[in-house]
Amino acid sequence: MDYIFLKTFTHYFLHFIFPVFIAWVFYRNQWKKAYLIMLATMLVDLDHLFADPIFDPDRSSVGFHFLHSYYAIAVYFLTLFFKGNIRIIGIGLLFHMLTDFQDFHLWNLLNHHEYSLCYFRHHRFFVFYRHL
Ligand SMILES: [Zn+2]
Repeated sequence: MDYIFLKTFTHYFLHFIFPVFIAWVFYRNQWKKAYLIMLATMLVDLDHLFADPIFDPDRSSVGFHFLHSYYAIAVYFLTLFFKGNIRIIGIGLLFHMLTDFQDFHLWNLLNHHEYSLCYFRHHRFFVFYRHL
């Protein structure tokens, strides 16, 4: 299987299918509702509309768009201290960030040569990755 296919498949799998398992494990008696709430957290991607270009494969969403910023992620983390729907939203958002994060960093790490280029152009964090 080729790299792009596997990367795309993983991305959509984590966005749409994996939350079913999260809902099933943590919210078994209301897993459908939990799953739908987590799907709805995909709305954070609307922040991409403020960027130009809207999508750039050489840019990590996490740490760039305002709803994907590290400050926003800190706020999402705080929702875990609440109960009910707010916590489900927080889990969805944090998992979304993890998905976007791996989509850029993990796959660039696997493709190390590209990673260095991306690092120089768009990123201030995770310098240590460059030495792996
Ligand atoms: Zn996103």
